[in-house]
Amino acid sequence: MSSIDSDPGVTPAAPPSDFIREIVRGDQEAGRHGGRVHTRFPPEPNGYLHIGHAKSICLNFGVAADFGGWCNLRLDDTNPTKEDVEYVEAIMADVRWLGFDWHERMYFASDYFERLYEYAELLVREGKAYVDSLSADEIRAHRGTLTEPGRPSPYRDRPVEESLDLFRRMRAGEFPDGTHVLRAKIDMASPNINMRDPTLYRIRHAHHHRTGTAWCIYPTYDYAHPISDALEGITHSICTLEFEDHRPLYDWVIASTRPPATPQQIEFARLNLNYTVMSKRKLLALVEQRLVHGWDDPRMPTIAGLRRRGFTPESIRDFCLRIGVAKKENVVDIALLEHTLREDLNRRAPRAMAVLRPLKVVIENYPEGRVETVMAVNNPEDPGAGTREVPFSRELYIEQDDFMEEPAKKFFRLSPGAEVRLRYAYVITCTGVVKNEAGTITELQCTYDPESLSGETAARRVKGTLHWVSAAHAVAAEVRLYDRLFLSEDPEAGGRDPLSDLNPASLVRLPESRLEPSLAGVAAGTHYQFERQGYFCADPDTRAGAPVFNRAVTLKDAWARLSKRG
Ligand code: ATP
Ligand code: MG
Repeated sequence: MSSIDSDPGVTPAAPPSDFIREIVRGDQEAGRHGGRVHTRFPPEPNGYLHIGHAKSICLNFGVAADFGGWCNLRLDDTNPTKEDVEYVEAIMADVRWLGFDWHERMYFASDYFERLYEYAELLVREGKAYVDSLSADEIRAHRGTLTEPGRPSPYRDRPVEESLDLFRRMRAGEFPDGTHVLRAKIDMASPNINMRDPTLYRIRHAHHHRTGTAWCIYPTYDYAHPISDALEGITHSICTLEFEDHRPLYDWVIASTRPPATPQQIEFARLNLNYTVMSKRKLLALVEQRLVHGWDDPRMPTIAGLRRRGFTPESIRDFCLRIGVAKKENVVDIALLEHTLREDLNRRAPRAMAVLRPLKVVIENYPEGRVETVMAVNNPEDPGAGTREVPFSRELYIEQDDFMEEPAKKFFRLSPGAEVRLRYAYVITCTGVVKNEAGTITELQCTYDPESLSGETAARRVKGTLHWVSAAHAVAAEVRLYDRLFLSEDPEAGGRDPLSDLNPASLVRLPESRLEPSLAGVAAGTHYQFERQGYFCADPDTRAGAPVFNRAVTLKDAWARLSKRG
């Protein structure tokens, strides 16, 4: 399977093909939109971007790149009460980190507030919109249901001049929130509820992160989005399937306001991942209720969380390529996302030895004070990565669970009387166990075979090979292990609150871990494969001489196993 070149913006050897690219190709060949292709990625700055957004980002920027077009970054900031500059900055950083560039094409829907208002007045003057003075509850009650038509508001036929006057006074701030709205005058009997005189403007006396208090009326998404697209010359407005029923309204807004361009909306199936929730509202609840440590908590499905966990932009782009783009909803196995990361890091991440839960080993026939260096391979997948020296001495640490006093069947690691090879070093035999008063094992006594590294018995095969670090040379570190944040495949099954489905063991902190000394000065964001333990990434909490590592994924590849079997 191919993966995207690590150079951002470079298209893969075989460009992906999907129904959206087919439409765009057809449009370009037919000379629609003057042969131009112009897309946009339009996040609302009301939270951090998540892996679902990555699918949309790869699609929008990818289509633009494939067809020689452009992709805008548009902040869809029409809802002042939920939006914040912190989110704007995070969105920019995350899109860039994924490897995409909007060049100078960054826009805000709030830049169009004046134009949007002018178009709204035009609609009122042409009898295509009116000010309704029913309450929100009354409007809902008038809207009807899927089986019953809606009923017109008593204000529906209010004279144009009266609506215009009220709309201007709405803007001027004369009315409190909720007293009036501007509605499109379309069809209260339409089988499509979105066409039953949808709301275009609401009164909201709120501070906006960009326009401050200049406005107290704000346009709805359904009104602002098509016009923003048109003003930017967007040709293909790609969005998720839940907007399919809004498309007639999208087209109505364009046809009725007659902006300078005619974009077309195309819908695709959103990404759903098992063991994950992606609604920003629910992710915000996790953050606000401190059930995770912020938006970039490595357990979060946010781009910032995935980055901190150790995911690479290459692996996320490869994942988006593999899931493809279709019109049918499905649920993707999170094991595929982990698989793409393993594939990427297997190629690129240097190997290192790290003992997560240390157990001391004393090699009693090894001379005190002696230190040897052994050669370790940096990456068997990449001969160019070379080798490094690792110190070996009389006192070492191995992993606690690599020892069993009474070994289970097929336990080929260390136990009394058993032999194992220490990776890149000697064969040792366990000769004794030291315990404290509580009966806990505190130390293993071993002997080593001095000929087993480069001497007569160097080629000797023993059943188990263990990783280790030299006790005197090792770097103390904190290692954080993660499991799924939610217990169930579908945390929202049956409409349950996903916050009641949290996995209490999603984070395990191991503050007593020991790393080989080459990792002492590691910089945050650096990846390693810790032999036998998985792929890890140095956390931003890392300090000089005190590394903190996150496990991104284990080595066990559930996806590879499943796809082989399937
Ligand atoms: P949420 O439900 O998480 O709040 P949203 O759709 O409201 O998501 P926006 O900021 O409006 O979030 O989304 C920006 C773009 O990303 C939209 O075009 C939207 O369709 C797309 N998008 C959001 N979630 C997904 C997803 N799970 N899969 C694919 N695209 C998505
Ligand atoms: Mg949205």
